[in-house]
Amino acid sequence: MKYQIECNTGKINQICLICQLSFQTNEVRLIICNDQGESYGDLCYQCIANGGDWVQFQLQKFSQKLLALN
Ligand SMILES: [Zn+2]
Repeated sequence: MKYQIECNTGKINQICLICQLSFQTNEVRLIICNDQGESYGDLCYQCIANGGDWVQFQLQKFSQKLLALN
């Protein structure tokens, strides 16, 4: 799992991958994708503000959920 930072021109409504709240993107989006570059979704700015360690931990839980589904 890796991060991709993208610049964004318009405002888009997205659902945060971690907290599941909908939010509007700003100029910069943080997108989570797998090693093949397929995106899972965006992170909201509140989750990003919790810091890299916290985000990493949440994403670990998320990827375990994905594995459990497969
Ligand atoms: Zn969030």
